[in-house]
Amino acid sequence: MRGVALAGLIAVMSLGSASCAEAGSAADPWAGIKVPAAGAAQSFGSPAAGCIAGAVALPLDGDGYQVLRPQRNRFWAHPRTVDFIRDLGRHAATDGFGPFLVGDMSQPRGGPMAFGHGSHQTGLDVDIWFRLPGQSLSADELSQPVGVSMVRGARIDPKAWTGDQMRMLELAAHAPDVDRIFVNPPIKAEACRTAKGDRAWLSKLRPWWGHDEHFHVRLSCTPGDVGCTPQAPVPEGEGCGGELASWNAKPVLLPQEAKDKPNHRNPVLPAACVALLHRPSVIEAGLR
Ligand SMILES: [Zn+2]
Repeated sequence: MRGVALAGLIAVMSLGSASCAEAGSAADPWAGIKVPAAGAAQSFGSPAAGCIAGAVALPLDGDGYQVLRPQRNRFWAHPRTVDFIRDLGRHAATDGFGPFLVGDMSQPRGGPMAFGHGSHQTGLDVDIWFRLPGQSLSADELSQPVGVSMVRGARIDPKAWTGDQMRMLELAAHAPDVDRIFVNPPIKAEACRTAKGDRAWLSKLRPWWGHDEHFHVRLSCTPGDVGCTPQAPVPEGEGCGGELASWNAKPVLLPQEAKDKPNHRNPVLPAACVALLHRPSVIEAGLR
């Protein structure tokens, strides 16, 4: 039985050698690799120029969450990222706002993606949708999901935004492993306007373009992971004043055509990532 399962997995692996990335792009061959590299979980480089060994898959259907577009094979991450989502899912189930919808994480070995994100390369990034469907979505709905923007023009859309989104953001920001969360500027403004009690978590909310249908959670480098390049710390304070006001004159929503467009970035990856491409997969290591 085990042999049959392994043979099936190896068949999947060999399919993986045909990359869906454009020939010659930085995403090739990263986007074509279907399984993680063997070894302890370790991130190398930075979110926009990096990779990960020993990534694990987030279970597609968990307590309080569901994974969107599993066909993209971007549900891989560092085990800390997986633990973060599963914890948030348990909170969502208990608090009654689940299931929430998990968007892209990383490819099996991280690295550049053929389309969409410039980051998400080290297994420490995850997109979580603001849309809370109130019930489990079907396989078809999960594979072709419809997003809901929380922003209209330069303001929050009160028809879409509820206390549940705010609760979800607050819970995510309180997770100790979470380094920062990117949200559309009017969403940060709304959190600044309505957060009660201890407001220290607001410092983790970073205003950025897009991020009106989903928020983007980035975990800190794993302690002791010397190959992982940490980001500059978030500025001190709530970030509700001048920095947020500086967004007032800028367009904050991305045009539709800017979403999931082919990636032509060519990041210089650490040497450890080049070596990682040739490391045996978890399945090959298991066959020895
Ligand atoms: Zn993202």
